[in-house]
Amino acid sequence: MIPEHVKNELKHIVGEEYVALSPSEMKEFSSDGTKLEFLPDAVVFPEDAMQVSKLLELANKEKIPVIPRGAGTGMSGGALPVRGGIIMGMDRMNRIIYLDRDNMISKVEPGVITEELQKEAKKIGLFYPPYPASANISTIGGNVAECAGGLRALKYGVTRDYVLGLKIVLPTGEILETGTKTVKGVVGYDLTRLIIGSEGTLAVITEVLLRLVPAPEYKKSMAIFFKEIETSIKGVIKILQFRIIPSILEFLDDICLDCIKEDLYIPASANSMLMIELDGPRSLVMEEAKKVKKICQSNGAIYIDIIENEQEEKKLWETRNQLSHYMYKLRPHKISEDIVVPRNNIPKMVSYIKSLSKEYGMPIPVFGHAGDGNLHVNIMLNKDNNIELIRAKELIPKLFKKVIELHGTISGEHGIGITKAPYMGMEVPRTGIELMRRIKKAFDPNDILNPGKIFWEGGSSW
Ligand SMILES: Cc1cc2nc3c(=O)[nH]c(=O)nc-3n(C[C@H](O)[C@H](O)[C@H](O)COP(=O)(O)OP(=O)(O)OC[C@H]3O[C@@H](n4cnc5c(N)ncnc54)[C@H](O)[C@@H]3O)c2cc1C
Repeated sequence: MIPEHVKNELKHIVGEEYVALSPSEMKEFSSDGTKLEFLPDAVVFPEDAMQVSKLLELANKEKIPVIPRGAGTGMSGGALPVRGGIIMGMDRMNRIIYLDRDNMISKVEPGVITEELQKEAKKIGLFYPPYPASANISTIGGNVAECAGGLRALKYGVTRDYVLGLKIVLPTGEILETGTKTVKGVVGYDLTRLIIGSEGTLAVITEVLLRLVPAPEYKKSMAIFFKEIETSIKGVIKILQFRIIPSILEFLDDICLDCIKEDLYIPASANSMLMIELDGPRSLVMEEAKKVKKICQSNGAIYIDIIENEQEEKKLWETRNQLSHYMYKLRPHKISEDIVVPRNNIPKMVSYIKSLSKEYGMPIPVFGHAGDGNLHVNIMLNKDNNIELIRAKELIPKLFKKVIELHGTISGEHGIGITKAPYMGMEVPRTGIELMRRIKKAFDPNDILNPGKIFWEGGSSW
């Protein structure tokens, strides 16, 4: 509960129509991609950095939690008000401030939808490559706060690689600009990088200065099917060894194929699929497509489709981006993990996941960004069945233990939030976690900005 005088002050800062206080209005801001639910005490929509600053000053004085929120597609619970408090929605801060063709940069507000920026950049021959599968709904602010990765990371890198600078507001209300307009710049500690991936716990991002690249001239998509997972990953490794770096290189296992077979052609004997996009100059792309076909044929592919038709191409990538939703055919709920292992360990990792699935009696479809080793592991269950829920929670530490054994990381792009907080210590040494806590304290002495995230406080896991 927040006191009446604070509610009045919120209305005074952003305007009465931009404050939601009733449970019915606030419900849509109480959940995110995890489907967990926590009702906030208020939702506010500031229009600029100055209003964000006033809101944070007030919250800091009153010691009320503030939770920055983009589109609420986060998969680790980062935008959830686990201790109540004020959700700060970025919906009104959604302008592309400028696109600068000469310097190939763009400055945007945090509420800009990722795909909107991509469309606008394309109009002037530029390209913003980071491509989370949620790009049509997630925001640039949320992408920066999570350091979103996605489908194009192998060739183009992740969000971090495109952020040149930020305007941020500290939990104590100070406004600060970090970074430079230039690609080079090494003056002092890199505060920009510290904020990227900090999951809204250190500062509120109010502007983002982004690097763009020239738009590729041509693209070609391919769907390639294999009988075994091992051969598909061997295909991936061979493609890269032949010095072809696809802009997208996605992997789907047998359970995923079963979920999508009503919407996409899947050969009966296929147990694994690669979805590939090649980009670059037209002649090079055509040549690479032929080479990829040849490489996969000689590495056990059973069916290869070089997609010629625009409709089919659209269908392929729509299906990929909707994969998370297809999984619900299997069970009503899921726990999503986004582990990463070195590419050549993918078969070992997937085979271990299959053994866990058998042992625990739960379907665990796996798909992901094969090129960079990032696998989305979907533990499908019925959370209303308490035994299934307990068993799923038993399974997770085993999964992470194997990831570490295989020299991987427990989160490639979804962050720690609340769902992975209990496990961070499996990967980050105590000294590292202590240093992170001290950084948090330096930014946010009263722990008002997105409290309860990243650092595990004990209690039951989500
Ligand atoms: C179907 C689906 C597919 C997805 N695919 C991918 C994928 O391929 N790759 C990938 O990386 N992720 C993926 N995600 C996860 C998610 O979309 C990303 O993490 C995305 O970056 C979150 O953006 P958002 O705007 O929804 O942020 P939110 O969920 O609203 O917030 C996420 C975090 O960012 C913080 N935050 C938001 N805005 C600000 C701000 N202005 N200042 C400070 N902190 C802020 C929040 O406090 C929270 O901690 C997927 C999610 C879904 C549902």
